[in-house]
Amino acid sequence: MTAKKQVPIIEGLFTWPSDKPQLIASRCKKCGTVTFPKAAFCANPSCEKVRENVEQIKLSNKGKLWTWTVQQYAPPAPFRKEPLPFQPYAIGMVDTEEGLRVLGILTSNDNLKIGMTLEMTTGKLYEDAEKEYITWMWKPV
Ligand SMILES: [Zn+2]
Repeated sequence: MTAKKQVPIIEGLFTWPSDKPQLIASRCKKCGTVTFPKAAFCANPSCEKVRENVEQIKLSNKGKLWTWTVQQYAPPAPFRKEPLPFQPYAIGMVDTEEGLRVLGILTSNDNLKIGMTLEMTTGKLYEDAEKEYITWMWKPV
């Protein structure tokens, strides 16, 4: 069996391929506002909308679990999560060191505690005949 090509669900969301994956965000050089996914303009409503003010940054790959839940039933199309048949999986809101709160799938449903440290990783969201589609996930450490 040949391994399928692994591709990110969307280009530019996280470093790929990478041994130590990081989310790709943007930061405003004027006011410091950080935005994920990266944006062409500052997200701060009272800041200038000048493309040149915004630079691309990589977020720290560590975060703290702010809250979480377990998805108990298969999400509607077009959302997919494998392996199939459907297995409940945890979703968490994670506070990054840059002050962002990023939603993501957690690699484990067990022993989750608010405030625990998580590390960003990647994993398969779903696959088709040719490719595996990879997304960012948060792994308890
Ligand atoms: Zn700004």
